[in-house]
Amino acid sequence: MTVRENYYSNLSKTLVENFKKRRFEAYYCPTKEDALKKAMDLIPEKSLVAFGGSMTIKELGLIDSLEKGDYKVINREMARNPEEKDELTRKGMNADYYLMSSNAFTAQGELVNIDGLGNRVGALCYGPRNVVVIMGMNKLSQNRENGIWRTQNVASPQNTIRLERKTPCAITGVCGDCLGDGSICSQIVITRRSSVQGRIKIILVGEDLGY
Ligand code: SF4
Repeated sequence: MTVRENYYSNLSKTLVENFKKRRFEAYYCPTKEDALKKAMDLIPEKSLVAFGGSMTIKELGLIDSLEKGDYKVINREMARNPEEKDELTRKGMNADYYLMSSNAFTAQGELVNIDGLGNRVGALCYGPRNVVVIMGMNKLSQNRENGIWRTQNVASPQNTIRLERKTPCAITGVCGDCLGDGSICSQIVITRRSSVQGRIKIILVGEDLGY
């Protein structure tokens, strides 16, 4: 075991305990491959599954695995036009399982998310009966404020480049507190507990994933 693997293994015990205190189901997977297997194990076959925009989910290959299996996957990326995309997004709010990452999480076990449209944080708060949140250790933040800073000054500048948004962060690499059309920061949501015990299931991964 490398020093980092050892450190992550130790740290994960503290984090998983803190997540569980907040009524989240929580697991630690040392690798992406373990995380993919855990996610597949958590989702029963024939489930209706939707997902929010997430590089972490993509890097895991989770959607491909579900689409090859016996699952009903709502894939907004396959929409042929904006109307169809809107329809699929709304259907996703009623999924059995909703998959996403979190922009950040705190050492105390809270999730920090900032969303443009709001479908991702909407589903996290209410709607789908189960939410699976998969996140790499790189998303660890000291506290809520630090998590918001990380989201707007590490994740958003990369996401706006990926999404070809003309925002200050896409150009300067730091948040310019924009309010225009391209902004991907409409809602800032701190999830401090799962209201329904275990509805939100966290898979913490001992690797860097997503932005
Ligand atoms: S508010 Fe605007 S500039 Fe700041 S992170 Fe969000 S999109 Fe980027």
